[in-house]
Amino acid sequence: MPELPEVETIRRQLAPHLAGRTVLELEILDSRWTRPASPEEVESGLRGAVVEAVERSGKYLVWSLSGDRYLLMHLRMTGSLLFDPPLDPPHTRVRFQLDAGHRLVYVDPRRFGTGHLVHGREAREQYLAARLGVEPFTAEFTAQRLRKTASGRVAPVKAFLLDQRRVAGVGNIYADEALFRAGVHPLRPAGRLTAREWERLRAAIEQALLAGIEAKGASIDDFRHLDGARGSFQDRFLIHRRAGERCITCGRTVRKIIVGGRGTYVCERCQRRPRRLR
Ligand SMILES: [Zn+2]
Repeated sequence: MPELPEVETIRRQLAPHLAGRTVLELEILDSRWTRPASPEEVESGLRGAVVEAVERSGKYLVWSLSGDRYLLMHLRMTGSLLFDPPLDPPHTRVRFQLDAGHRLVYVDPRRFGTGHLVHGREAREQYLAARLGVEPFTAEFTAQRLRKTASGRVAPVKAFLLDQRRVAGVGNIYADEALFRAGVHPLRPAGRLTAREWERLRAAIEQALLAGIEAKGASIDDFRHLDGARGSFQDRFLIHRRAGERCITCGRTVRKIIVGGRGTYVCERCQRRPRRLR
């Protein structure tokens, strides 16, 4: 599933192609994409709109359009965007016809991705605020804020990091990478981390996300760039998907465990298991 670095990679590739372009025509081939709005409503709302900026909030791609309109796209499990593909690939769900003969195609085999059109900056902020917690790389993303949000929570810290309403943009890959970098076991109850651990973890989250952005995302599944190319972060994982290999720090064998239903990779020497679970 695309996480913050994958969505940011797409945003950086998309922005120069879309800025200043007009959406001449839009064809939504799958009504699930716009639910609960109808495809016709979104098609007519976007027709003729000029793209002013392409931004990102958590895992959402946010198109700012003329007339104070916003298209909020979420790629979910398997969504991807292709710019000027020679042919429509299988599982094409949406076609954007842009001016100057350009085309953008949204492809999504599993069909969980969504596209919502909202009117006005306030509606946009409400939509995102209801779904997203604190955003990495902003002034609000502090150890103090994270510790306060986690206060009293007994759920594992990894589950806390995956909850988009707590921390925006972190998914399974970057949670594992950040917890390893910070030396925090994924099963530690979120509310029990010390202030120092939260400071280490806050820094580690941003370091892991930055490494992912620099590698143009990870392509372990359907994630592809605008031109169909793959990201390379999967070749640079420190801990994720390395079960059975030696920890790069201490040499102990990396284990795979399940936390909150997700495959989780951990070095139990570098990341001490909480005592009650030993
Ligand atoms: Zn280790």
